[in-house]
Amino acid sequence: MSDWHALQATQVTELLKVDPDKGLDDHDASERLRTHGPNRLNCRSGRSPLLRFATQILQPMILVLITAGTVTVVLGEWLEASVIFGVVLINALAGFIQEGKAEAALMALAESVATETTVVRDGTHRKLNAAEIVPGDLVVLASGDKVPADLRLLASKALRIIEATLTGESAAVSKSTAVQQIDTPLAERQNMAFAGTLVVGGQGIGVVTAIGESTETGRMSRLIAQAPELTTPLMRKMNLLIKHLLLVILVLAALSFAIGVLRGEATFDMFMAAVALAVGAIPEGLPAAMTITLAIGVARLAKHQAIIRKLPAVETLGSTTVICSDKTGTLTENAMTVREIWAGMTSFSVSGQGYGPSGCIVNVGQPATISGALREALLTGVLCNDARLLRENQNWTVTGDPTEAALLVAARKGGLDDTTLNTIFPRLDELPFDPDRQYMATLHEIEGIQVICVKGAVEKLLPACTSMLDSQGHELPLALESIQAAASRMADDGLRVLALARSELRPNQQLEHANMGSGLVFLGLVGMLDPPRPRAIAAVRTCHAAGIRVKMITGDHPGTARAIARQLGIIGHNGQALTGSELARLDELSLHKAVTAVDVFARVEPEQKLRLVRALQANGEVVAMTGDGVNDAPALKQADIGIAMGLGGTEVAKEAAAMVLTNDNFATIETAIKAGRGIYDNLIKFLVWTIPTNAGEGLVIFTAICTGTTLPITPLQILWINMTTAILLGLMLAFEPVERGIMQRPPRLPTTPVLDRELIHRILMVGFMLLIGAFGMFELALYWGHSLPVARTIACNVFVMVEIFYLFNCRSLTQPCWVNGWFTNQWIWIGSGTMLLLQLAFTYLPIFNQVFQTAPIEILDWVSICTYSACCALIVELEKHWRLVQRKPKGAVHL
Ligand code: ATP
Repeated sequence: MSDWHALQATQVTELLKVDPDKGLDDHDASERLRTHGPNRLNCRSGRSPLLRFATQILQPMILVLITAGTVTVVLGEWLEASVIFGVVLINALAGFIQEGKAEAALMALAESVATETTVVRDGTHRKLNAAEIVPGDLVVLASGDKVPADLRLLASKALRIIEATLTGESAAVSKSTAVQQIDTPLAERQNMAFAGTLVVGGQGIGVVTAIGESTETGRMSRLIAQAPELTTPLMRKMNLLIKHLLLVILVLAALSFAIGVLRGEATFDMFMAAVALAVGAIPEGLPAAMTITLAIGVARLAKHQAIIRKLPAVETLGSTTVICSDKTGTLTENAMTVREIWAGMTSFSVSGQGYGPSGCIVNVGQPATISGALREALLTGVLCNDARLLRENQNWTVTGDPTEAALLVAARKGGLDDTTLNTIFPRLDELPFDPDRQYMATLHEIEGIQVICVKGAVEKLLPACTSMLDSQGHELPLALESIQAAASRMADDGLRVLALARSELRPNQQLEHANMGSGLVFLGLVGMLDPPRPRAIAAVRTCHAAGIRVKMITGDHPGTARAIARQLGIIGHNGQALTGSELARLDELSLHKAVTAVDVFARVEPEQKLRLVRALQANGEVVAMTGDGVNDAPALKQADIGIAMGLGGTEVAKEAAAMVLTNDNFATIETAIKAGRGIYDNLIKFLVWTIPTNAGEGLVIFTAICTGTTLPITPLQILWINMTTAILLGLMLAFEPVERGIMQRPPRLPTTPVLDRELIHRILMVGFMLLIGAFGMFELALYWGHSLPVARTIACNVFVMVEIFYLFNCRSLTQPCWVNGWFTNQWIWIGSGTMLLLQLAFTYLPIFNQVFQTAPIEILDWVSICTYSACCALIVELEKHWRLVQRKPKGAVHL
C-alpha cells in the first residue's frame, strides 16, 4: 500500500501493529526482519556489463590492435591474428573484471560507512544500523540524519528535509503530520519522509511504512547506489598522453612501412613489420594497471581507517597543501572532564578523572557546600542534557555528547543524580543544540513553575542575561566584567567554557529561539578539559615537515582554541586566533591575506567555513577540510577533499565528503596523505617502467626496417613479452610500500606534468639501452652463426631480463632501489620469479618453440644477457645518484 499519507497517524500505527509510544518489541522486530529481510537496496552498477565490456574494447589503443588484427586476417596470417585478438580479449576481460572488482570494492567501502539510525524499541531509544530497520519501527529523525526508510511522520518539530535524490528539488521542504489528500503528488506529501533523503533541520518521529526495494526510492530506482567514477585527474591526463603516444606510434609505423616499401622490400613483410611496431609500442596494459593500482591503494587507505568515497581524492591527497581541521574530537580526545566551576562569583575546582563520578567539588581546599548558584548551575547542566552515563563492570562510559556527559559527572560529584532529577523534573520541550546558535535549551516544570534551562557559549548567553544568582541563590544584577574575566581566564588555560542560565516561561509563551534573546538569569560557568590527542601532536609535526599547513577551525572560544593549538604545535607562543565575527568584517582581499597568515579560527560558524575554503583556494592552496555537521556540507563539497567524521559525523556530512575517517582522528588524515602520496608514486613508477619497454620494442622494429635487417623480434614474440611482463612485473609496483622520506617532500603541485624532464630522459635512456641490447645481441648471435630462432630468442630474453632488473630500479624513482629494503614487497619477487619460469618455458619447451618460433639458447647466452641487464640497472642507479648529488645543494627532493 502506498497511501499512508492519507491515513490518520493512529490508523497507520494500528495497521502496522505498533505501539506509537513504545515502538516494536525486540521479538516482534526480529520476526519482521526475518519476514521482510534487511532494509537494503540491491546495488546495481550504473552501467550494464555489456556497456562496461564495450568501453574496454572502445579504447583507442585496443581499436588500433583490432584494426591490425583484422588486416592480418585478411593477409591470411592466422596465428598472428589469433594472438592479436587473444591480446585484445585478455585485455578487455582483465579490464572488465578489474573495473568490476574496483567498482564493487569502492561501493562496498562507501557502504561500509553504514548509516546509523535511532529507533524506539521496547520504549527506549536505540542506535541501529539502517539495514536492521523493519516496517513498523518508530524512527527518530534529527538534523543531519539520512532518512533510513519510507516513514509516515507521527511527530514533527520544525522538521526540514532535502528530497533532491527523489524529486530533484534541492531546497529543503518543511514537514508536518497533518493528513493529506489521497491524490497528493509524492513531492508534496508533507507527512511522509522518504528513504535516502536528508534531514537538515528540526526533529521528528515517523513509523516505517516501507523498506529497501519497496521504498519510493527503491521503486523509482533513482537512488540506486551509483557506480563510483573510476577516473581521476591523473587518469584523464594519462588518457591524453596515451592518445598522443598512439599518434606518434601510428606515424612511426606508417613511416617504417613506407621506408621499407620504398627500399624495395615485400609489401606484405613490411606491413607485418609495421603491425609489429604498433603492437610493440602500444602500452596495452596501462589502463587496467592504473585502475588496479588505484583500487589497491583505496583498499590500503581503508585499512588505515580512511574510506574513500570519491576516487579522485586519492590523488588529491598527495597534493594537499592545507588541512583545515575541527578541534573537538579530531585534534582533541573529546573526553571531557569538568575541572572548574565558577558560580556565585566563586571558583570551585573539581577533582577526579574520566567519566567515573569519584571526585569532589572543592573550594579553597575544602569540599564545597552545594547550594545557591552552584547547585542551580549543576541542576541546569543535568536537565539541559541529552547524554547518559553507563556503568559496565567497573568502567563508566557515556552515550551522547561528551560535553554534556561531563556535566552529568560533575553533578554526581556534587551529589546530584541525573536519573532521579530527570524523573522529578521531566522534559516538556526542547531546543536542541545547534552549532550556529551555540546553545541548547530545555523546558521543565520545577515546583509548579515552567523553567527554561539553557547552556551554551558564553558570548551567546551573556547578552541575553539580565541578572545572576549569588552563592546564596539570591538574584543580583549581572556582574558582566567579572564573568567575562573568569571565562577568558578559563579559556586561556585551555578549558572549554560553557555558560549556564535559566528563565521562567511566561504564560502563553512557547519555547522558541525568538524568546531566548533576553531575561535569562546567569547561573555559572563550567570549564572542561579536553586534552589534545597525542598522535595528533605528532601528525601536525609531520604535516609541517611535509610542507602542509594545519589550520584549526573551531566553534570554540578563541582562548581555548589558542591554548589547544599551542599544545598541538599548530601555532607558536604568540600565535593569534581570528574569530568568526572578525572574519565577517573582512573584505575579500583582506580575507585572502588573513587565511594565509592565521592558523587558528575560533567561534567560527559552519557557514563561514565555506568562505574560508574559497579564500584558501583563491590563494592557490589545495584544501582538505574536515566537518561533521549538516552546515559543514557546503564547505566539505567545496574543499578539494572534504573529510567527514565516521563516528561523530552526520549522514549529510558523510554524503558530501570525499573521504570519511572511521576513527574521527586527525592523525588519520596525515596517514591518508602519506598513503595518497604513495599511491601516486606507484602509478608514476608503473608508467616509468612500462613506457621504455614499449619504446624499446618499437625502436627495435623501426631500426630493423630502416637499416633493412631482419626483425630481431616477431610481432607474436612482442605480444608475448608485453602481456606477460605488464601483469607479472609492472603490476607488482602497485604493492610497493610508501617510500621513506615521502613526508619530507613538499606537496605535488596539481599542475605538475605527469612525467617531468628527468623521468622523460630516463625513459629515453632505458628505451635506447633496450634497443642496443636486443639489437646488438641479435646481430652478434647471427654473426656467430646461431640460427634466426636462437638469435630472436636471445633478443626476447634481453627484453625480459632488462625489464626485470629495471623493475627493481623503479621501486624508487629518485632514491637507490634498496631504499625501502630488499624484501618489503614480496610481490615483486614472486612476479619476477614467475616471469623467469615462463621465460624458461618460452625458450626450452617445444610447444612454445613451435608457437612463438623460439629455440633453446646456451648458458653462456644467459650469462651475457644477465650481465647486460645488470649493467643497465647499474647505469640507471648511477643516473639517479648523479641527480641526487646535483639536487642536494638546492634542497628538497622532488619526485
Ligand atoms: P569544533 O572544534 O569541532 O568546531 P566545538 O565543539 O568547539 O567543536 P561547536 O560544537 O560548534 O564547536 O560548539 C561551539 C560552542 O557551543 C562550544 O564552544 C560551546 O560553548 C557550545 N556548545 C558545544 N556543545 C554544546 C552543547 N551540547 N550544548 C550547549 N552548548 C554547547
